[in-house]
Amino acid sequence: MLNFTVGPVMSSEAVRAIGQEHVPYFRTPEFSEVMFENERLVREFAHAPQDSRVCFMTGSGTASMEATVMNVLSPKDKAIVVNGGSFGHRFVELLQLHQIPHHEISLDYGQPLTEAHLAPLANQGYTAFLVNMGETSTGVLYDMPMIARFCQANGLLLIVDAISTFLADPFDMEALGADVMITGSQKALACPPGISLIVLSPRALERVNQNHSVSMYLDLKSALKNGERGQTPFTPAVGTLLQINQRLRDIKAAGGVESELKRMKMLSQDFRQKVAPLPFKMFTTSPQNGVTALSPQGISAYDIFTTLKDEYQIWICPNGGDLRDRVFRVGHLGALTTDDNTTLINAMLDMQKRGLIK
Ligand SMILES: *Cc1c(COP(=O)(O)O)cnc(C)c1O
Repeated sequence: MLNFTVGPVMSSEAVRAIGQEHVPYFRTPEFSEVMFENERLVREFAHAPQDSRVCFMTGSGTASMEATVMNVLSPKDKAIVVNGGSFGHRFVELLQLHQIPHHEISLDYGQPLTEAHLAPLANQGYTAFLVNMGETSTGVLYDMPMIARFCQANGLLLIVDAISTFLADPFDMEALGADVMITGSQKALACPPGISLIVLSPRALERVNQNHSVSMYLDLKSALKNGERGQTPFTPAVGTLLQINQRLRDIKAAGGVESELKRMKMLSQDFRQKVAPLPFKMFTTSPQNGVTALSPQGISAYDIFTTLKDEYQIWICPNGGDLRDRVFRVGHLGALTTDDNTTLINAMLDMQKRGLIK
């Protein structure tokens, strides 16, 4: 199997080897050391400001999105949320569910966010800004420096869902003045699903400590307290945390986050060059490194996904809803190489020869 989806993605041999072992008991100083190292490396790779903390939550990325909304925000906030696809929509639903007043910036699929969207919202009493740095459903990378300038000028707390962009696109929490960064184990971390994590700036930590707890399992106060001794309140996905540790150490040994970002950029550019002669259109002008969204012509995007899966044992990522037949996505996250890109392109060329791609 060759997996070009956007998660779960393929893991390195070293990460997979851990998956084969027994899962150890975790209330030990040894496991606490692993957790301290995980926190240290995540903070380093996110360029988190001093005195930031990291919460490791057992649950997929959405658990950390929800924990953030419940613990960092309160009904006294007035948030701005960018909705350019299914993950932006998820933030909107979470704000609705938890009764956080908000204004939604609704974008067409694939459309970038511009100054024109933000200007009317300046000086309107907003307190927080929520954005999916990469809207993985359409492959759009938002202009984070522009968003950060707006947030700084208006004193807004900046909450960034970097679930598909952390370790794939440049992200400097301190330079952006971002307060929260969220990611998950099955995207660029290239581990099995089960863990998501939240990096909190000192300003975000202050809010967590001031707000009333509204959940037991997703309570960040208790996650932070336990984290002080390298532990979690409840049994975490221990095996996945050990795999995350391996992956973070491997990135560090290979030159750190900058090398990993270079590798990701090289992989996505290699694919985009190789796919250019095929009759697909790039779905967005500002793509993330982790995913290329493409529109085929005269054939259903979903059928391309199905044929590649059933006849070539290659998985690309289909879209759901309105985009099902219009867009497919090729992920670049995980243990992929330029040779793997060539294998996928050759399969697409073969489909073209057979008249299945026109
Ligand atoms: C994958 C992803 C999520 C979270 O999805 P889960 O299925 O809950 O892990 C959230 N936001 C973005 C941008 C994503 O790519």
